[in-house]
Amino acid sequence: MTRVYNFSAGPATLPEEVLKKAAGEMTDYKGCGMSVMEMSHRGKEFQGIIDEAEATLRAIMKIPENYKVLFLQGGASMQFAAVPMNLMTKNKKADYVHTGQWTKKAIAEAKKHGEVNVVASSEGDKFTRIPELDPATFTKDADYFYIVTNNTIYGTVYPQIPDTGNVPLIADMSSNILSEPIDVTKFGMIFAGAQKNIGPAGLTIVIIREDLIGNAVKNIPILLDYQVQAKNGSMANTPPCYSIYIAGLVFQWIKEKGGLAVMQKVNQDKAKILYDYLDNSKLFKSPIERLSRSLMNVPFVTGNEELDKKFIAEAAEKGLKTLKGHRTVGGMRASIYNAMPLEGVQALVAFMQEFEKENI
Ligand SMILES: *Cc1c(COP(=O)(O)O)cnc(C)c1O
Repeated sequence: MTRVYNFSAGPATLPEEVLKKAAGEMTDYKGCGMSVMEMSHRGKEFQGIIDEAEATLRAIMKIPENYKVLFLQGGASMQFAAVPMNLMTKNKKADYVHTGQWTKKAIAEAKKHGEVNVVASSEGDKFTRIPELDPATFTKDADYFYIVTNNTIYGTVYPQIPDTGNVPLIADMSSNILSEPIDVTKFGMIFAGAQKNIGPAGLTIVIIREDLIGNAVKNIPILLDYQVQAKNGSMANTPPCYSIYIAGLVFQWIKEKGGLAVMQKVNQDKAKILYDYLDNSKLFKSPIERLSRSLMNVPFVTGNEELDKKFIAEAAEKGLKTLKGHRTVGGMRASIYNAMPLEGVQALVAFMQEFEKENI
């Protein structure tokens, strides 16, 4: 059985080297006679796994000392509530930029806890671009400013990170964390569900500046309180042990490949092959404004639903899997995270060229 090229938006493809390493350690982790899934999270083996995962993540992302790294559960969606309950607590207001379904859900949660100002939105353009931001419209005394850096469903990414001055910038980076070097100091907090570019579902990474911890509302559930989680080394209860272990292997894989600058270069090369083809194709096109185009999620359409369906089915037969667009936007979407090799994108474009010849 050979592996397919899996273009799923998430849970997404993982590096084959990581899967093989995990397979080799599946029944006996480093001679301790048990699987990582079976060991106590309070034991020294697992403490070693979580400590190493954190240290490697800190090294590859250059996370400064004054930021905590938390390994949590509940997915990125749990953070939609955790963020306002921990941070919308001084002036009880926050600015949000509305760029699609994930900000819509985050805004709805935040509204339960205070005043939400939507300072910009691209809803009128069906979220096919990142809206222009005018700092004059930002709320000066907002508790935080919230963005989704890469919009997984539409395939948009911020061309640059907004400057929010003294207002902490909070970023849902679920689908582009680790895809390129970023300056962590520009953010008050970064969070990401693991199942796009980190590892298996069930793990959410939170990277938060220490001075933002400890301000939660009184009635916050204990497990959502960043202070509780930070004090307990992300083990206020049983953490998602196996997901943390795999994430650690992925961090190590990135480090061994040369780090985030190397990831960025490969990701740029992969995306260029696909966008260049789309921009010259007579059949397929990208609906996304050039300046906002994501390197991670690349939606495309033929403009004909029947033809889209035929393409997705024939691609799957060739081992090019999960190319269906999100159910709310239709068409196709190729998610080409770190673990998607260049050859996968080349194979996709070769098949698109073939399909174009036969169907135009
Ligand atoms: C997938 C995704 C989410 C939702 O993640 P869950 O882990 O399912 O809660 C939120 N935000 C972004 C940007 C995503 O890509």
